[in-house]
This record gives sequence, structure tokens and C-alpha cells, in this order.
Amino acid sequence: MNFELSEDQVMLRDLVRDFAEKEIAPKIGTLEDKHEFPKAIIGQLAEIGVLGMTVPPEFGGSRTDFLSYILALEELARVSATVCVIVSVHDSLFCGSILKFGSDFQKQKYLPRAARGEILGAFSLTEPGAGSDAMNLKTKAVRSGDEYVLNGTKAWVTSGGEADALIIIALTGAETGAPKASAFIVDKGTPGLKVARIEDKMGLHSSPTAMLTLEDCRVPVQNRLADEGRGAAIALAGLDSSRIGIAAQAVGLSQQALELAVAYSKQREAFGKKLAEFQALQFMMADIATLLEAGRLLTYRAAELLERGKSITKEAAMAKLFTSEAANKIAYMALQIHGGYGYSKEYLIERLYRDARIFSIYEGTSEIQRLVIARKLLKES
Ligand SMILES: Cc1cc2nc3c(=O)[nH]c(=O)nc-3n(C[C@H](O)[C@H](O)[C@H](O)COP(=O)(O)OP(=O)(O)OC[C@H]3O[C@@H](n4cnc5c(N)ncnc54)[C@H](O)[C@@H]3O)c2cc1C
Repeated sequence: MNFELSEDQVMLRDLVRDFAEKEIAPKIGTLEDKHEFPKAIIGQLAEIGVLGMTVPPEFGGSRTDFLSYILALEELARVSATVCVIVSVHDSLFCGSILKFGSDFQKQKYLPRAARGEILGAFSLTEPGAGSDAMNLKTKAVRSGDEYVLNGTKAWVTSGGEADALIIIALTGAETGAPKASAFIVDKGTPGLKVARIEDKMGLHSSPTAMLTLEDCRVPVQNRLADEGRGAAIALAGLDSSRIGIAAQAVGLSQQALELAVAYSKQREAFGKKLAEFQALQFMMADIATLLEAGRLLTYRAAELLERGKSITKEAAMAKLFTSEAANKIAYMALQIHGGYGYSKEYLIERLYRDARIFSIYEGTSEIQRLVIARKLLKES
């Protein structure tokens, strides 16, 4: 077992870290305060190849091994969980699904532009009544000649209002009494596709999350991703890999929380000593570092297994479960070390504490990850 990153992986990680520190860190706080989408930053990320990291060169991408991609997400999340999730949805769920399930026409049409950052992608599975129970879909796609007519409401779509193209999961065959989920690529501006509302969230303020309505929204048959009835498989495959991305997001944020806690403890004094001298706080920092490293190893292992083409459903769920729960504990302890100042928006840890809360909810809650892990365990035994 080799725990060393390759030279290329280290170079890539350092490149993204450098970019994140110079180009994202100084700007993202203001954007978060204004709830503004980081458009310029996403454009710059396209220039350095980050938006095409899951896209092979023949489709204009900069595809790397999967662990390198995960390292890049971790570095983005170390300075901004918001930027990380926008990239993760675009790279893993949008580009990844088209690459795996798309026709040549779809790959040629969407992937080169997505890799260059000319279009941003989103992925919409959730509905108001279908979150954890993801296949309880109500949105219908009815075939009409060379088109499908989509009607329904999609909820909680990351980048939903910003995206130039979305993969939307909807039911086909409802009219025959045997409905099955299918996936469609829907372009922004398609008549009938509307942003009904942007959610007012606790965190990730620069990542707008949209509720979308589809009213007689006509999508050409050539925009159906794979065959009718493949929607569940497409969603599950996308989620397997993107859950490793969310684990990387949790690891990156946790790394930042550790760095902030250590720096603050060395600077602030109480009872004539630096906070770092109190064993109670040293123990918190030791726990943070241990949780962080354990989560990082689970995440890298899942990434490495995916790269080797292994089934990673259980490993991705474990990495996502552990790191997202750990990030919440870590953000809590790191904020505690900051005392009252940690509760102030003046200190970065306040944002990390809010942003961490989503990790154990989206792309499958912690309870759902446990179900996935347990099901696999019982099947394997
Ligand atoms: C900021 C944000 C961004 C998002 N981005 C996207 C996106 O881009 N695309 C997309 O499709 N979706 C997205 N989502 C949706 C997200 O994946 C869902 O919110 C999530 O899967 C949970 O679904 P729900 O909110 O309906 O909760 P529910 O399913 O209603 O769950 C409520 C509670 O019940 C528990 N529960 C439910 N079923 C079970 C069970 N069988 N056993 C035990 N406990 C259970 C859950 O764990 C949870 O604690 C996003 C959500 C948020 C908040």
C-alpha cells in the first residue's frame, strides 16, 4: 500500500492551492456577504483546466487521474466550500454523466464547451417530495414525436439559475402505467424552464440553489441521456463519484478549520498564557487533526479504488459519511477555540461552521449513507 502522492499529483495540488490562496481567498468573503455567484473565479478555474478535469483530451478536457481531481476539490474547499461545490457538480455530475452515458453527439456538443468553461452544468434529481426517497419523482417527460414534453418542479438545484445546461431526471412511460426515471439534458433558455426561486440558505451563500419549474418544456429526443429508464442508474453512478467529491470538500474545509484553530490558539492569551498552552484546547486540536487525517485517508482510498475501476458505492458512502460528520465536529471545536470571536462574522471560522452543516445533508444525508453502507455489507456477507 502506497500512501505517497505522485510528483504529478503534488504539482497539481500545489498549483490549485496557489491559485486558491491568491485568486479565491481574497475575494470570496465579499462575494459570500453579497450572495454573489463567483463568475470570474469559475472562469479563471476553466483557464487553468479545473473545469475539464473529468473530461478526456479528445473532448477538449484536461482529464487527470481521479485522485488528482479530488486533491483539486480539497484545495478549493480549503478556501471556499462554495467554489468547490459549484466545480464538483459541474465536473462530476454534469460532465461525468455525459461522458459515461452520453451519445457522441452529446459529448461533442457539451463536453468541450464545459471543459473550456463556456458553459456551466448542473444536475437536478431532487424534487419537493423526492429527496432521500429520490425515485418518488413527479416530474414527467411525455414523448411527442421527436421531442419530450417535461412538466414538474425540481428542487434544490446547485447552480440551477446560473447553469447553461442541466441534467434533469424525470419520469418517462407514466402514460403507459410503467413509469421509469430517465435523464435529459436541458439547455438554459428552453421555453418552459423557469427559475421559480433561489433558496435563502444558512451557508454556501455564493452558490445559488434554485427551485425550477418545467411547464410544457420541449426537449429534443437527441437530448435524452442514454435509453429511457436509465435515469436511476445515471443518478446513482453520478452520486457514487460525486460523494467522493463531497468528502474532499469536507476534508478541505476541515483542514482550513484546523489551521485557523492552531493559529488563533498561538495568538490569543488568557490567564497570562497563550490558549495553545491549555491542555483542554490541545486535546481538541489533536482530535481535529486525527479526524481530519482519518477522513482524508478514506477519501483518497475511495478515489484510488474508483481510478482502478472498482465498485466504490460503499467506500464513497463511508468517505462521505465520515468526513461530513467529522467536518461538523471539527468546525464546532475550531469555533470553540476561538471563543466569542468565533461567533463573529469577522472571523472566518464562522463561515466554515455554517458551510460545514450541509455536508451531511446533500448528495444523500448521513442516514442514507448508512443505509447504503449497511445494504452493501449485508449483500456482501
Ligand atoms: C444546498 C443544497 C444543494 C443541493 N444541491 C442539489 C443538486 O444540485 N441537485 C439535486 O438533485 N439535489 C440537490 N440537493 C438536494 C439534497 O440532495 C437533498 O436535500 C437531500 O438528499 C435530502 O433530501 P430532503 O432534503 O428531501 O430530506 P428528506 O429526504 O425529507 O429527509 C429528512 C430527514 O429524514 C431522514 N430520512 C429520510 N429517509 C430516511 C430513511 N429511509 N431512513 C432514515 N432516515 C431517513 C433524512 O436523513 C433526514 O434526516 C441540495 C440540497 C441542498 C440543501
